[in-house]
Amino acid sequence: IKISKSYKLASRDFHPEDTVINIGDVKIGGGELVVMGGPCAVESPQQIDEIAALVKAAGGQVLRGGAFKPRTGPYSFQGIGVEGLVMMAEAGKKHGLLTITEVMTPEYVDVCAEYADILQVGTRNMQNFDLLRKLGTVNKPVLLKRGFSATYDEFLNAAEYILAGGNPNVMLCERGIRTFETYTRNTLDLSAIPVLQNLSHLPVISDPSHGTGRRELVEPMTKASVAAGADGLIIEMHTDPDNSMTGDGVQSLFPDQFAALLRDLEKLAPLV
Ligand code: PEP
Ligand code: MN
Repeated sequence: IKISKSYKLASRDFHPEDTVINIGDVKIGGGELVVMGGPCAVESPQQIDEIAALVKAAGGQVLRGGAFKPRTGPYSFQGIGVEGLVMMAEAGKKHGLLTITEVMTPEYVDVCAEYADILQVGTRNMQNFDLLRKLGTVNKPVLLKRGFSATYDEFLNAAEYILAGGNPNVMLCERGIRTFETYTRNTLDLSAIPVLQNLSHLPVISDPSHGTGRRELVEPMTKASVAAGADGLIIEMHTDPDNSMTGDGVQSLFPDQFAALLRDLEKLAPLV
């Protein structure tokens, strides 16, 4: 049966070949596996520099870290803002890593694009259409996270907003969806990986950290994501997870776990 789709540019019908996003000498999509690692939030120059060195030494290609944090409560730590962008850009440059950071509002897109190599749209903003439209006009790749209650159709339509604005470099990120289960923070929808690759030509990245919310599940769900065909991973890692400034320490790997996981991945799939 032919299903009519409301999105076009994101569809594989429209663009049969895999999209490959080239950033410096890193390729995202088209068969290679990219690993993005780092803390939930940028906390200080020392913290991000130390973690960048560990991501690089483990074989990661991209440093992740939030300077603007979308917190459930208004009294929680909200991120250190533009200063954090500067700290992360310096750490990335020093250690030879690309950087990815979350942008929450259209007004901050330009400054985030100035300092980071990849712009992340968080799950809570997947249907922030003004933000998506603005990201369509920038010359930086975007990692779009799936809304925690979004269908594949809604997710691909959100990607369509960015593509339709003229930015062809969009990655889709499965980061877990809300289900009846509360043992895990979210339910990582592994099916999303092959489904999205079937429906779309865009690279698909898995986030086993937010997808589970539990450190001990990050390793098996990373490997499961690779087995399911993910084009890349975004994984939280912290040198002192118990004292991290967001609640995401509980899902952050210790540096030695991160390094061991990447060694195992080399056996499953060649890293970029
Ligand atoms: C994050 O990457 O730290 C984050 C807030 O992710 P999400 O939008 O998936 O919750
Ligand atoms: Mn986080």
